[in-house]
Amino acid sequence: MKLALFNGNRLGVVRGETIVDVTSALPAWDNGYMANFWLRLCHDFDTLRPRLEEAAQSGAGVPVSQVRLNAPVLNPTKILAAASNYGAHKEEMAARRDFTGHAAWLSEFDVFLKAPSSIIGPDDTVYLPDVGDREIHHESELAFVIGKTAKDVPAERALDYVLGYTILLDITVRGDGDRSRRKSYDGFTPIGPYVVTADEIGDPHNLHIQLWVNGQTKQDVNSGDMLVKIPEMISYASKVFTLNPGDVFTTGSPPGVGQIHAGDTMVTEIEKIGRMTNYVKAR
Ligand code: MN
Repeated sequence: MKLALFNGNRLGVVRGETIVDVTSALPAWDNGYMANFWLRLCHDFDTLRPRLEEAAQSGAGVPVSQVRLNAPVLNPTKILAAASNYGAHKEEMAARRDFTGHAAWLSEFDVFLKAPSSIIGPDDTVYLPDVGDREIHHESELAFVIGKTAKDVPAERALDYVLGYTILLDITVRGDGDRSRRKSYDGFTPIGPYVVTADEIGDPHNLHIQLWVNGQTKQDVNSGDMLVKIPEMISYASKVFTLNPGDVFTTGSPPGVGQIHAGDTMVTEIEKIGRMTNYVKAR
């Protein structure tokens, strides 16, 4: 099932090129907290799925091209991100000279946080902040959404905690300084176009990931090249943080990262998920 948020956070189910508004199939949760309906949906998805499927079957759809898609996540308590998780990306980073010293920890797998306030949606624009002579780069990544509260989860059961998968661009200022700042400027986390539930993805480590800038291929890899796989990633992170339903976890950049400039158009595609376009402009 492909879940989308659109036209001001209506809930949609996408089938082919059609989107059906299934918002009215959600229960009237009495917490008065409609801003959190998405987190509640993630938490209760297994229970809600039959009624969403029924609404998607019986509802009249409209072409996806006629709606305004939003990021298919809402108010995550955190965005977790894997660092240094593709061998060839570690090599291209080690060759750069814009660090004042290439600290060993920068090349090791770890997880860090991106600010949820940096999220934008498909067709949205990344406005470049003034960062002097620093470069701002694209990183196209497979990301997933947590569906169950996860704490100290063993790797063998970790995939049970994944609701579905999506595309995430981890826009990054290169050079010195803390990752959480360099990757959390407003607009630095495009996510979309949909969350595709885990059952439709099958093996998340066999997906073609591609990114084009102005039509030119920049990143082109299979997610199977990840060094630390998703179950180990969840297990590791869940020893640090409680992973909450709706949290977003991005799996690290493949090689081929590069500078983006005002006027650029970025297109990212991940097999079985879809394709997302984002624009780059000066702030
Ligand atoms: Mn990244």
